[in-house]
Amino acid sequence: MTQERSPGTVYLIGAGPGDPGLLTLKGMRCLEEADVVIYDALANSRLLSHVRPEAERIYVGKTAGRHTLPQEEINRLLVEQAKAGRTVARLKGGDPFVFGRGGEEAEALVAAGVPFEVVPGVTSAIAAPAYAGIPLTHRDFTSTVAFVTGHEDPTKADSDIAWDKIATGIGTLVFFMGVGRLPEIVGQLTRHGRSPETPAAVVRWGTRAEQEVVTGTLGDLVEKSRGMKPPALIVVGEVVRLRETLRWFEDKPLFGKRILVTRAREQASALARRLEAAGAEVVEFPTIRIVPPESFAPLDAALGRLGEFRWLILTSANGVRFLWERLAEAGKDTRSLSGLRVCAIGPATAAALESHGILADVVPAEFKAEGLVEALAAEDLAGVGVLIARAAEAREVLPDELRRRGARVEVVPAYRTLQSDEDAGAIRSMLRERSVHVVTFASSSTVRNFLEMVGPETVELLRGVVVASIGPITAKTAAEAGIVSQVVPDRYTIPAFVEALLEYYRGQRA
Ligand code: SAH
Repeated sequence: MTQERSPGTVYLIGAGPGDPGLLTLKGMRCLEEADVVIYDALANSRLLSHVRPEAERIYVGKTAGRHTLPQEEINRLLVEQAKAGRTVARLKGGDPFVFGRGGEEAEALVAAGVPFEVVPGVTSAIAAPAYAGIPLTHRDFTSTVAFVTGHEDPTKADSDIAWDKIATGIGTLVFFMGVGRLPEIVGQLTRHGRSPETPAAVVRWGTRAEQEVVTGTLGDLVEKSRGMKPPALIVVGEVVRLRETLRWFEDKPLFGKRILVTRAREQASALARRLEAAGAEVVEFPTIRIVPPESFAPLDAALGRLGEFRWLILTSANGVRFLWERLAEAGKDTRSLSGLRVCAIGPATAAALESHGILADVVPAEFKAEGLVEALAAEDLAGVGVLIARAAEAREVLPDELRRRGARVEVVPAYRTLQSDEDAGAIRSMLRERSVHVVTFASSSTVRNFLEMVGPETVELLRGVVVASIGPITAKTAAEAGIVSQVVPDRYTIPAFVEALLEYYRGQRA
């Protein structure tokens, strides 16, 4: 007898309005657990970084030359995937139950006997005005708000919208999908008694780098917003006045800048978070992935005879991570390093060490191999054992120089950096559309991999894009490929990197 598999659960998840930080914690957890993710255009592609690499991703939104998958087919796809026993994340822009057809999808799931849950999202109706500095309600102005579609089902004979009632009966009106019909909307409202002096705004691409806001009155908004394209919301009501005092997002120093972060996924977040705090929109495009070395034998062997070394040198947080994994594997912990003096190449490595209870004895002033050589200048290294745990492929400056000074240097690979298997297609199109403003490189290998992954057009595509390299060695690798770095901080840390970028734009504005 064949046994039918019990269906997986479908999660109808609100992806929020664009800013990836506006995904809920529950939504994120569902994405992490999903076997398949079904998403459309308004969901920020960065949300997909929460999805397991082996999970399937199915895009059902609009693409050039192809329309959105018809709703019935999306419904069928959801049912089919769930019936195959998979956990399905159905990611929808904003909130799934606010003009998102999530209701229809849920009905189809009920009809097919597929279990589902709704994970509400931050609807653009709330988020886009918020990022424009427009509170939907305010005690001095209004106590009612309505969400209205500006795009009624065209097959419907009579309007479902009671214009006579909403025109004057509701304080704040938020219209979805209405830019194309703004003249009709304004006409209906004023015909039904709303004053042409009423403040009104169009908010396009709210919460994203492209956010664009036009304010006016019902009387002049059509004229003022001419040429604005979807997706946008129309906000009508006295609260729109508050934008003048409450605007905040557009005043951030990196507002409007879409920045590519090319570091490994595990390392990207520290940089991404700082850039976002400055108002930038970050797109992660990991060009490297960190994997174990071909063999751990040399590292394991060295950890087995730590008594032979006086110094342990770590050149990255990854090295720290793998070293402690191997210690644990051997049933050991931090205490087995007690006899060693420990050197960290920079503050991030030192912080990683600190998380294991080790305060680095030496952190050079210049965070690169030459800086370490310098920092150890006063040490007598003749005959002294030095263990360097680092990436399998790295520059030889440090071991060579320490050996020259008489040290017995042993270099063991703690990890390898490989080119990521990320698809570069989306990035290439963004670069072609000129919608990327800054590319960041945090190491020479990110430069090399970026060039290989994006392909022969890379240099051409980067024309007009601000290139930020973390230090002179990275900038030199870029320069050798014909890429000029406009931003190179003088300290090689993430905070200094972000500060240098801010400084660059301050200079541009001045
Ligand atoms: N479920 C979604 C709405 C989908 S309908 C939500 O809750 O937000 C699509 C419409 O939503 C667009 O035509 C536009 O009117 C609005 N919209 C979605 N994202 C937006 C954004 N970032 N800025 C402005 N309007 C947006």
